[in-house]
Amino acid sequence: MRKAKKSVPKRGVVKKKKISKENDKKEIKSQKSTKRESSESSQVFGKRQSPIDIVSKNVKIDAKLRKNGGLRIDAKNCHFNLSITECGWRADVDEGTSVALLAPHLIGDFSLEQFHAHWSSDSKCGSEHTVDGKSFAAELHFVFWATKYESFAEAAQQSDGLAVVGVFIEESNKSIPKLFANSIQEAREAGKPIAFSLDLGKLLPSRSTFCTYPGSLTTCPYSESVTWNLFKEAIRISKQELGIWRQISPSNYRECQKMNGRKVLSSEKF
Ligand SMILES: [Zn+2]
Repeated sequence: MRKAKKSVPKRGVVKKKKISKENDKKEIKSQKSTKRESSESSQVFGKRQSPIDIVSKNVKIDAKLRKNGGLRIDAKNCHFNLSITECGWRADVDEGTSVALLAPHLIGDFSLEQFHAHWSSDSKCGSEHTVDGKSFAAELHFVFWATKYESFAEAAQQSDGLAVVGVFIEESNKSIPKLFANSIQEAREAGKPIAFSLDLGKLLPSRSTFCTYPGSLTTCPYSESVTWNLFKEAIRISKQELGIWRQISPSNYRECQKMNGRKVLSSEKF
């Protein structure tokens, strides 16, 4: 009995070690999958974090935002390099391409650096910004930087250095021609960036009503350097195309942050 009693805790100890090794593995796995969340929890944030919930009754219409055609992206056929990132994809502007953002509230020139998107596995949520608590299936972000600074990296550290244009995406069951899903698949298979061309107009809504507020990057390092510009009208992307995005990551959006007294202005009723 004594021997048996002795051998039980021994086996128990060995078993425990095995379990703890397995747990370690699990922990490492979960650390990888929640890397974004853990990097977020270790940050100290200021008072202008993004995304936010846009409460339409609190949005103030500012006629000045409609001056000179309001918010415009000056681009047609553009060349990009598409790469797969840790939790999504990113299309970097190719050297020969120049895309400008023009808007009455933005002083100086802003040039496109890259665009990417946020989504989830469920079309009921996935956008980062929400409107009156409503989420969209996904959200595109066109990231521009103020060329009065030396580089994108320098601009990203200034309170007025970046301007991001957000476009809400609705999932459509209709057969819509693929945009760049093939390039995403190619980049995944090749394990390196893939060059592609695109008429950016296909990723922008036809109506130009937009709202703007001061905010931050929604991914690490969450710099509070972004003037956000969100179009009211969503674009539609096919379920098949979103399905290819979801193969990279099931979900990559950040939850809404506190307003901290910030005001949202819009060009027309939002
Ligand atoms: Zn983004």
